[in-house]
Amino acid sequence: METHGTIRYRIHAGTADKYQGMYGLSGACRYAWNHYVGHLREEFQAYGEIKSYRWFTLGKYFTHLRKHNCPWLQTYSSSIVRLSLKPIQTAYAKFYRGDSGLPKFKSKWNSDPSFPVYFGLNAKLNGSWLHIRKIGYLKLIGENPYENAIPKSGAVKEENGKWYAYIAYAIEAIKKPRLAKAAGLDRNDGQVALSDGRIFYAPDIERKERGQKNYQKMMARRHSPNRRQGIKPSNRCQKAKGLKRNFDFKIKHVNDNCNYGVSKTIANDYDVVYIEDLKTKNMTALGKGDAVNPDRNVKSKSGLNRVILNTGWHKLEQMLAYKMTVKKVPPHYTSQTCSCCGCKDRQNRISQSKYKCLKCGHSDNADINAAENILAFENKERLNGRVDSAVKPTVKHKKESNVNNLTVV
Ligand SMILES: [Zn+2]
Repeated sequence: METHGTIRYRIHAGTADKYQGMYGLSGACRYAWNHYVGHLREEFQAYGEIKSYRWFTLGKYFTHLRKHNCPWLQTYSSSIVRLSLKPIQTAYAKFYRGDSGLPKFKSKWNSDPSFPVYFGLNAKLNGSWLHIRKIGYLKLIGENPYENAIPKSGAVKEENGKWYAYIAYAIEAIKKPRLAKAAGLDRNDGQVALSDGRIFYAPDIERKERGQKNYQKMMARRHSPNRRQGIKPSNRCQKAKGLKRNFDFKIKHVNDNCNYGVSKTIANDYDVVYIEDLKTKNMTALGKGDAVNPDRNVKSKSGLNRVILNTGWHKLEQMLAYKMTVKKVPPHYTSQTCSCCGCKDRQNRISQSKYKCLKCGHSDNADINAAENILAFENKERLNGRVDSAVKPTVKHKKESNVNNLTVV
């Protein structure tokens, strides 16, 4: 079976012209995106339906736009700009299915310059040189573990002043032997515990967070942009933003790296993992209430929000679902129940980390005890003869369509 492996390379373009070309091409992609997203939005608001949002039709419109209205677009590869419009079709298809809202505009201030490439169409890979149409050869820095694999598609992105190429190769999928083993996983503040007694700690990002916060404050003090009033950011504000972004990326990479490692370790030893069905989206939503009548949960929630978003619980779940079968169980009382005798008592949990059963005397790490309780759902499932459907990132709950009268030309 064929699958994809993506490698991230650093780009050294060499000359200022090439860097300028990459920024310009990203700008052209963003311009075309905003042009058509705005156009389709107006059409939808006026008529309640869209004649066609297909990529092919948008491509035809784009050719016209490039030829007659915006000749400056002719400096850049039309193939790449047209390719960058493809997600509009996907976004509208999603919108009509009822899975998401209308596609959004891309702002220069809030989005990273980037453009897609497709090998064989508008890009070539020659050893460690990436050739992009109308820009030229770019030197790639980084190792490729898939030596003889064929590159398929990719994206070129700027991340805080540095350019990177993400290249997806077609590779042969390695078939993992079936282990038929299941584990329970308890996710908590700063750590995850496995039912076999292993605990994985989240990376310490306190210092990085402090840096992020400092520069966030600095940005707020300086002359920040306001699109409605047409105010552009000051140079000092942009500088502070760059410094803040350094920390943003550091935190992201540290968390991602940890999640990759943990999910790989678990997937190597087990086939199925049971996790609590935490609605991270609901949990991170702000508690109701205002300044006069504050909700009891607002303060506690704001602390929990930070933890949930930073520890990347959801990301770990996604990574696990990609590698193995993930089954969700109801999260109630998993941290209060004794995994030995089933005694359910709040006082059993002595502290955040310690668990001691008042009935049978069983003592353990509180998170490992919870993980064992989560794994116990496997036996319950077997007894009931009922197996819940596995969670896969691609399978989505289908809601009612937003619009009934949809016409596709
Ligand atoms: Zn007990």
